[in-house]
Amino acid sequence: MAYAYKPELLAPFLALPQGDKIQAEYVWVDGDGGLRSKTTTVAKKVTDIGSLRIWDFDGSSTNQAPGHDSDVYLRPAAIFKDPFRGGDNILVMAECYNNDGTPNKTNYRHHAKKVMDLAKDHVPWFGIEQEYTLFDVDGAPYGWPKGGFPGPQGPYYCGAGAGKVFARDLIEAHYRACLYAGINISGINAEVMPSQWEYQVGPCEGISMGDHLWMSRYLLIRIAEQWGVKVSFHPKPLQGDWNGAGCHTNYSTKEMREPGGMKHIEAAIEKLSKKHNEHIAVYGEDNDLRLTGRHETGHIGSFSSGVANRGASIRIPRAVAAQGFGYMEDRRPASNIDPYRVTGIIIETTLLSD
Ligand code: ADP
Ligand code: MN
Ligand code: MN
Ligand code: MN
Repeated sequence: MAYAYKPELLAPFLALPQGDKIQAEYVWVDGDGGLRSKTTTVAKKVTDIGSLRIWDFDGSSTNQAPGHDSDVYLRPAAIFKDPFRGGDNILVMAECYNNDGTPNKTNYRHHAKKVMDLAKDHVPWFGIEQEYTLFDVDGAPYGWPKGGFPGPQGPYYCGAGAGKVFARDLIEAHYRACLYAGINISGINAEVMPSQWEYQVGPCEGISMGDHLWMSRYLLIRIAEQWGVKVSFHPKPLQGDWNGAGCHTNYSTKEMREPGGMKHIEAAIEKLSKKHNEHIAVYGEDNDLRLTGRHETGHIGSFSSGVANRGASIRIPRAVAAQGFGYMEDRRPASNIDPYRVTGIIIETTLLSD
């Protein structure tokens, strides 16, 4: 019999008192850019990240270490409230380190943190628009007619009504879970392709952008697990005349947010224009399938920018151009990015190089 989540069976157990102990779920990025987690019991309510222990796991089972030297260390980096267990229980975003103290191959936070510390006087803010697609466990897009296709794109973006919107209950659950957890989620919308959705996280300062986005993804896949639905972060989940999925990365510094900030925005765009290929290299796997110059993208092979232009690499929002300060949107990053890499290279290019 197929497994089905039964919340009514679990509920009385989750309601039991747990004494003076709490559960801490450590979450980390595995060797293939997926998420893993495991739980430890902690003696009391945690308010200070320094009181959490450095833990370890078997990296040979997650494509992060060879079998003969398999211990990978988990160093707590950020704490969120746990919406699954409630109470004082927590989720812990953790960084992975090898036995010799070097960052594990998937630990892009380590370098990004150094970069953010160097740039902190500029108070960089990011806002990421995470797009993703829902699939049935049998591999078909969630809610699509079996063996067929829904009508062409048009009615689905920000849609309302049966046949136009799929899985709104799952999406609502995720939104509320993010708010409860303390993730700085700023909105949601249904996307252009049916069963494709977006949520925005931000503005977040510096390194916290990556922490909040990774944990929001963890909540999404855990909640979808309860619905029996798979989440795809692939940038072009379906071939054909269907939109791809991105992670538009909105960015500003203190200088850009103040009156006269447009000259700082323009200077940053000028610097970005000279490092297009270096950025594309860390803006997601299979992004070439998405950045075709169609479906609201700029072509992967060339850099462009413009006010209100959704076919450009960088868009300056109309309202920002009108008031003369604010932020810019880098539309190139794919839905499967590591946000630590993307926010890190944006800072390196625009603030830490000439
Ligand atoms: P779009 O019109 O591209 O769909 P969204 O409303 O989906 O835009 O997302 C805009 C994002 O920009 C949000 O995540 C928001 O937090 C972020 N944002 C707003 N102001 C700033 C700013 N000054 N600096 C960085 N990010 C910002
Ligand atoms: Mn958006
Ligand atoms: Mn979108
Ligand atoms: Mn956008």
